[in-house]
Amino acid sequence: MALTAVGSIAFDSVRTPFGERERMLGGSAVHFSLAASFFTDVRVVGPVGDDFGPDELSVLESRGVITDDIERVEGGRTFFWRGHYEYDMNVAHTDDTQLNVFAEFDPKLSGAARQAQMLFLGNIQPELQRNVRDRCREAEFAGLDSMNLWIDTARDSLVSAIADVDCLLLNDAEIRELTGEANLARAARAAMRMGPKVVVAKRGEYGAALFSGDEFFAIPGFMLEDVRDPTGAGDTFAGGFLGYLDSRRGAGESPFDHEALRQAMAYGSVLASFNVEDFGTDRVRSLTREEIGHRLSEFRRFTHFDAEPSRT
Ligand code: AMP
Repeated sequence: MALTAVGSIAFDSVRTPFGERERMLGGSAVHFSLAASFFTDVRVVGPVGDDFGPDELSVLESRGVITDDIERVEGGRTFFWRGHYEYDMNVAHTDDTQLNVFAEFDPKLSGAARQAQMLFLGNIQPELQRNVRDRCREAEFAGLDSMNLWIDTARDSLVSAIADVDCLLLNDAEIRELTGEANLARAARAAMRMGPKVVVAKRGEYGAALFSGDEFFAIPGFMLEDVRDPTGAGDTFAGGFLGYLDSRRGAGESPFDHEALRQAMAYGSVLASFNVEDFGTDRVRSLTREEIGHRLSEFRRFTHFDAEPSRT
């Protein structure tokens, strides 16, 4: 049974100190699905407009992502995001967000999408995340990502969506903003009291921290000399993380197991490190399993972390 992922399917216009691109394929569900496809079957849910063509679809399909639940809205336009980064590429500056077809989206959700045992609610309006969560009750493990825009404009709805998932993945600054706690450990514990048993604080190039039960685990980012575009790194991390957990779940292990969660953190970090090497989806769409295995070995050496590379 494929993992179901909902989130934005987007065109992104991005400027970084290393270049500029117009209307690249992007969106939280797209970056997530491409990364997760290295570990498990993924079904992506979301609307697109007339401007979304066969070239965009083929990027997903060439990685085996199931696209039957992508709904084309006649006469509509695909979600659009414009952003830029300064030299500190850990902080994205949003210049424009156009929800377009997402504004009125009421997902049909095929039977297969509803029966998924692993669910990812990627960054999009919290009402939509709740809608999908409510209709995918079979999920044994549901993860949710969001951003400051929704904390600022739809906090109550976001808090309800968070209450109904197992794992919250947010940037460290967003967890602080959500909970009003300045200290990250306290903020993560406050987020856990909202409902999720697992909280992942993403920390850009500095890696990520995991809180589950009373346990704590932190992992650095993979040290890269060339970072061109960090857009989608968080979603790519989530794709490596949940995709790996789903592969372990398929092998009969619990996605709540702390050891599995630690390994998932390493895969998330490694996948995200590829994403930032080039603009948009350019690097991940040409990535191979061998490259993932190789970088995981380097990552182990560099962190003294005992992630098992043969599990890719
Ligand atoms: P990140 O992984 O945080 O870098 O996410 C980047 C992706 O999020 C881009 O591909 C954007 O299309 C998408 N995005 C940006 N703003 C929003 C938003 N308000 N809702 C949903 N997706 C968004």
